[in-house]
Amino acid sequence: MSNVHILGENEEVRVGKILCLGRNYMEHVKEMKAETPAAPVVFLKPPTALIRNGEPIVFPPISKQLHHEVEIVLLIGKDGKNIAVGRGDEYVYGYGIGLDMTLRDIQSEAKKRGLPWSVAKGFDTSAPVSDFVRKNQIADPSALSFRCFVNGSLRQSGSARDMITSPPAIVEYISTIFTLERGDLIFTGTPEGVGDVHPGDTITAELDGYVSTSHSIVAG
Ligand code: MG
Repeated sequence: MSNVHILGENEEVRVGKILCLGRNYMEHVKEMKAETPAAPVVFLKPPTALIRNGEPIVFPPISKQLHHEVEIVLLIGKDGKNIAVGRGDEYVYGYGIGLDMTLRDIQSEAKKRGLPWSVAKGFDTSAPVSDFVRKNQIADPSALSFRCFVNGSLRQSGSARDMITSPPAIVEYISTIFTLERGDLIFTGTPEGVGDVHPGDTITAELDGYVSTSHSIVAG
């Protein structure tokens, strides 16, 4: 069973679906030489991909290229379908920071052949997440900044202000396709600066001084 913890509270929430956005920051779209999407790009990771602060990220032997993508993660607080425009924020219970760990060589091959991204994005330990901060503890969620470090060196730095689709609009859009349930997570996309990690590295992601999560990389 995969749970996340609510910061400062004696509360655990069971995680359901893990939904992820691709190409939600213009500078990352450019670095991937990808096209700007007409609608948000959505993919899924299974709940078994989830790990929490301190647990190792296992680099599976099927790949030679493991990339970090640091992302703000939304925790859904109540069930919703076809959520009306302007009401998406009511369904967000909290914010955390996560890493959309990606087997880039396998994803590149899948893109070339028109195959799904499930292996590249959904392997075990591909979804490290921090504890979650309740929305009412954050002054301005639309201005949240975040970073990731590998072995103490800054690799990525972003702000929610630079998202192409904002968190409430992401919730509204996704709910037209997938019924959202309490405990679902939404990874909101990564800014520029994605790059390699190797066994022996330590990666740390942090959300604006609220929460962080730290993981060693180990060979699978
Ligand atoms: Mg991503």
